[in-house]
Amino acid sequence: MTKPNMNYANLKDSYLFFGIAQKVKKYSEENPDKKILRLGIGDVSLPLCKSVISALTEGVNDQAEKSSFHGYMPECGAPFLRRAIADFYRGRGINVADDEVFVSSGASDELGDILDLFDKENSALVIEPAYPAYVDANIIAGRKIIHLASGIADGFTPEPDEDRISDIIYICSPNNPTGAVFTREKLKKWVDFANKHGSVILFDAAYEAFIEDESVPHSIFEIDGAETCAIEICSLSKTAGFTGTRLGYTVIPKALIRCGMNFNAMWVRNRTTKTNGVSYIIQKGGAAVFTEQGRKEIKENIAYYKENAKILMRVLDGCGIEYTGGVNAPYIWFKCPNGMGSWEFFDLLLEKIRVVGTPGEGFGSCGDGYFRFSTFGSREDTLEAAERLQGLLNSIKV
Ligand code: PLP
Repeated sequence: MTKPNMNYANLKDSYLFFGIAQKVKKYSEENPDKKILRLGIGDVSLPLCKSVISALTEGVNDQAEKSSFHGYMPECGAPFLRRAIADFYRGRGINVADDEVFVSSGASDELGDILDLFDKENSALVIEPAYPAYVDANIIAGRKIIHLASGIADGFTPEPDEDRISDIIYICSPNNPTGAVFTREKLKKWVDFANKHGSVILFDAAYEAFIEDESVPHSIFEIDGAETCAIEICSLSKTAGFTGTRLGYTVIPKALIRCGMNFNAMWVRNRTTKTNGVSYIIQKGGAAVFTEQGRKEIKENIAYYKENAKILMRVLDGCGIEYTGGVNAPYIWFKCPNGMGSWEFFDLLLEKIRVVGTPGEGFGSCGDGYFRFSTFGSREDTLEAAERLQGLLNSIKV
């Protein structure tokens, strides 16, 4: 009889957002006339920018003519897009070669697939609170997970710990869910730690475009020594509104070698076996994000979300509630008022003011007592949610 991957039995019952969706669905069915404002899931609300739309349209038109038609695309990415992304890094003073860039269908897909490069016996260190896919993908692979809790004391950006040495290390900066960013100094400590122990850092830079503070690194490759210990996974989902269009990229330096195996060469081998490349049309659209005009347009969209963040931060500031994020990230992470648990606060917000957020506990047990707001909603919903939140916080006397 076929033996399935029994590790699936070790996954928690439901994925965080599925659990939230169930609760919201039940509430809506029982209260069909009530308007629910969603500040939960991190999905964008603004459409793709003009430059991307015209590039996508051009891509469609190319596919209509024999002379410009594209069949299968190169598995590791279209040369024009790999070059555009590498140029983007080089423009920031980071030395990345075109063939160190791999085009993907998004960071989630890549975060799962990239684990093919690692032995099952490798351990994975996850700094919590964390994006749930890090833990779940490693549970599915049957790996030992080392949890490293972060908190207010370390600004949710802990330093490496010699008692928690691991083969794979996840770092997400700007962080989902806390919105915290690792400073150059802290990242250097992690890079030195990884090189010393032969670990590999999986650096999730999905939110790099939201960084405002000039001293904060956008890429792990801004740190000396990262080319021998890190892989960077990035996405256009939040940078440019590609959540439903799907495009991401991964940087694997050729200098990343363990046990004589070159990770860049292994990934080429993996991709040429497991994919037939990303759609030409989508890659054409993605390349527009890296043009001067494209950068200008996506910045305008990001500024819109930043304004949402300011609206929500004003409410929290006014009530003296401490939070991280909002400035260099599209998430605001705060302590639930009056010592409430995070699901307790979730239920209160849903029932009293019909606002949906994300309970911190869903990102690891150390997230209990915290809550996350996403700033990706519309201006109207954010303003209304802020007003309702203000009323609720006043009424429970925070
Ligand atoms: N990494 C982090 C930290 C995220 O928050 C998300 C999506 O919310 C992803 C990766 C996945 O991004 P993508 O849409 O490219 O799959």
